[in-house]
Amino acid sequence: MEAQEKDELKQLWDRLAVTPKLVWDKVDQTERGAIFAYADHYKTFLDRAKTEREAVHEIVRQAQALGFVDLTGKVPGPRGFYNYKGKSLALVVQGKQPLSAGLRLVASHIDSPRLDLKPYPLYEDTDLAFLKTHYYGGIKKYQWLARPLAIHGVVLKADGATVELKVGEDPADPVFTVLDLLPHLARKAQMDKKVTDAFEGEKLNVLVGSLPVGDTETKERFKLHFLKLLEERYGITEEDFISAEVEVVPAGPARDLGWDRSLVGAYGQDDRACAYASLAAILDVQEPEHTCVALFYDKEETGSDGNTSAKACILEEIVELLLERQGENPQGRRRVLLASRAISADVTGGIDPDFPEVHEKRNANRLGYGVGVHKYGGSGGKYSTSDANAEYVAWLRRVFQENGVIWQAGELGKVDEGGGGTIAKYLASHGLEIIDCGTPLLSMHSPFEVASKADLYMTFKAYRAFFGF
Ligand code: MN
Ligand code: MN
Repeated sequence: MEAQEKDELKQLWDRLAVTPKLVWDKVDQTERGAIFAYADHYKTFLDRAKTEREAVHEIVRQAQALGFVDLTGKVPGPRGFYNYKGKSLALVVQGKQPLSAGLRLVASHIDSPRLDLKPYPLYEDTDLAFLKTHYYGGIKKYQWLARPLAIHGVVLKADGATVELKVGEDPADPVFTVLDLLPHLARKAQMDKKVTDAFEGEKLNVLVGSLPVGDTETKERFKLHFLKLLEERYGITEEDFISAEVEVVPAGPARDLGWDRSLVGAYGQDDRACAYASLAAILDVQEPEHTCVALFYDKEETGSDGNTSAKACILEEIVELLLERQGENPQGRRRVLLASRAISADVTGGIDPDFPEVHEKRNANRLGYGVGVHKYGGSGGKYSTSDANAEYVAWLRRVFQENGVIWQAGELGKVDEGGGGTIAKYLASHGLEIIDCGTPLLSMHSPFEVASKADLYMTFKAYRAFFGF
């Protein structure tokens, strides 16, 4: 082949075919610096927001520092927040256009898989004190054994007083753990079984002590010691755990991962990778065309049921509030929602080179290739998903193109391999345009999820572009 012909074919290829873009190949030194700086702020956020309540607290703190006011209060302002029960939240930046022109919504979730305490968690066995748990969300149970765990949560006393717990994060704190069986004796109890049978939810008991009070005459003295310590430190009793939300999560901070520090390893990146990106994006928005809303939902990991979830009527209420605050008829909320454009901001699974067989490689997301856009999710013939309209996807491509966002399209896994849903379908029930767009992760739903700093930053850049377009 002539050199000229070769050249023409290359040009033809570049013009017609899609070439995936590795973020690191495309960004200049300035943006490379921005990627690493962004990741540092992100890690701090992860450390402060290990539960949905902590996430709401931290997001409100950052928003208030930048002049966001409570939308249910009397103080007017173009930047506001709506805090629903301390577990779901919206940040709003008023646009130049009327609300009837539609909102720009980025909706993420701030709950993550974990172990929740049962109503009567405390017991002792074989002179050890334990807490019983009921796992929350889709976990692989064996991943929670034999690792340091922290206890986060709230305990409500009958008089309404709230006690906040956070033990196991400070290096001076004790940690907790779920025991695992020694391999020497595990053959029948674990090794010969299917993984789903080998690790039982009922055995996810958290070891919390081994020091008794009193003497051999004392009733349940290991359990009693734990209760005594709780009373001394927090003034709570065993019954108070019934009115509590106490979550057992992996102990320790988010970390740089890799010798080159190009990755972040941490618990709870599903979905705080996207929650933080939408926070950083909306905090950065100034006088947008359309009113921008960042929504942070609870209870996504258990199917978006419950009054703090994406299925609850929080969004309708926010739109009515905004209409009222602008002197418009709150009845117009349906029209506002129908005209709105949204991003379902949730993470997706990247290709794990040890398990390529679960992905269809042409349509799977790769770490380092930017934020992942999924037109649809679901499973078994596109069930249980919202399939974004082609017109909307085309519009989003333009948003990204004009703002230098590096992104990749894809699906979660092979057809009929499994699948998963996001909150897209619940928000789609309002008739708004919506598409899934978020950071690809490795080891998703594990106690140590992995993300590329390049993709984390491109997720922020995508949401920022979307808000401003
Ligand atoms: Mn998620
Ligand atoms: Mn998830």
